[in-house]
Amino acid sequence: MFVDKADISVAAGSGGNGAVSFHREKYVAAGGPDGGDGGRGGNIVLKADANMSTLMDFRYKRKYKAASGADGSGNQKTGRDGDDLVIRVPLGTLVRDKDTGAIIKDISDTEPFILAAGGRGGWGNKHFATPVRQAPRFARPGLPGQRRDVVLELKLLADVGLAGFPNVGKSTLLAAMSKAHPKIANYHFTTLYPNLGVVYVSEDSSFVMADIPGIIEGASEGAGLGHDFLRHIERCRLIVHVIDASGSEGRDPIEDYESINTELARYDARLAQRPQIVAANKCDIVSDKSALETLRRYMQERGIPFYEISAATHSGLDRLRTAISSQLSVLPPIGVFEPEYSEPYLGLISPDDLTIEQDDGIWFVEGSWLERLVSRVNFGDSESMMYFERALKSSGLYDRLEQSGIKEGDTVSIVGMEFEYKR
Ligand code: GDP
Ligand code: MG
Repeated sequence: MFVDKADISVAAGSGGNGAVSFHREKYVAAGGPDGGDGGRGGNIVLKADANMSTLMDFRYKRKYKAASGADGSGNQKTGRDGDDLVIRVPLGTLVRDKDTGAIIKDISDTEPFILAAGGRGGWGNKHFATPVRQAPRFARPGLPGQRRDVVLELKLLADVGLAGFPNVGKSTLLAAMSKAHPKIANYHFTTLYPNLGVVYVSEDSSFVMADIPGIIEGASEGAGLGHDFLRHIERCRLIVHVIDASGSEGRDPIEDYESINTELARYDARLAQRPQIVAANKCDIVSDKSALETLRRYMQERGIPFYEISAATHSGLDRLRTAISSQLSVLPPIGVFEPEYSEPYLGLISPDDLTIEQDDGIWFVEGSWLERLVSRVNFGDSESMMYFERALKSSGLYDRLEQSGIKEGDTVSIVGMEFEYKR
């Protein structure tokens, strides 16, 4: 089963709590505060794995949680940081926000990407000692880790996509040109997921070729398997259109060629513009030489590069490889999707979902909307903090606080975090 879309929920670890503790030593009366800080929660990290070509691993496991930071302890001991949880995904995985569909990241290189940041550890009581408060009996709790619901969507990163009807020899060609071992069999739809192979041209030049499972007529309208796979051709820089030149299945090669192109264009007009090279395969069993000649003339008249090959006997493969590589050298690099800004929490907070209480000069604000907002924010990242402030501003919370009588400089505690109130 090929899986190229998956919903997952991730939760970074929360920060450990700061400790309340006082220095103790024999014969020393009242020691000062020595409660250490909590450790940082582990991040959720996505990392590309060039050997993966499906999101199959995410079919059963959908929830991921990184370790929390340990609590601080006495003697100024900081709690241990929670370990990051590294999730491996195929190269070319698009990560989208589940609520808005906005692109968070295109995992298109091997740089690790922090999808959810661990919460900061809380401060131990040693930070709160002042000349007038020498024995602070409080510390700060750790901050919650960021949580996210995301959709992973695979759009393979390959330079070359092999397109063509089932059984024309795409998998055989990939196996012949690379070290990949796709399944080859003489029936339709043998390939249930795309195979990737690296084709070496010379010592310092290679390209990635993907065997896209057979496109059939009507694929762009969702008939058969082909539709799901068309998205994997989207990013290929070059399409090698494989045709069964022997007509071994009683089909007309020119008709095949045209109907595949129609499917590509129906799926996405830009795909029809993608440069193509035609590989007329199974030339080793062509019995009607004049039909092959007609096919060649047809392509020549249209200015389409045409190569006669046999994936089975390897004849013509060197020339095809060279042609692909020289085409690629003048084509733009693989497209990478830019992140789209998504601000799902900008909007009015519902008054039913908000409690404001004042106690000892501190304004305590609680509500599930706020909790969800806080869990999305990475407090170590300035852009994320700006988003948090914008979300608070547009929520109407400040108006409610003013109605309740808050003044500049008062302390506001939002879901356990304290801020100085500034309009
Ligand atoms: P795909 O569905 O396009 O991936 O096609 P496969 O690579 O699975 O091949 C389908 C069948 O055609 C298999 O039985 C292959 O052995 C056979 N085949 C592939 N290429 C050639 C070729 O160049 N010559 C001959 N005679 N048979 C081939
Ligand atoms: Mg195949």
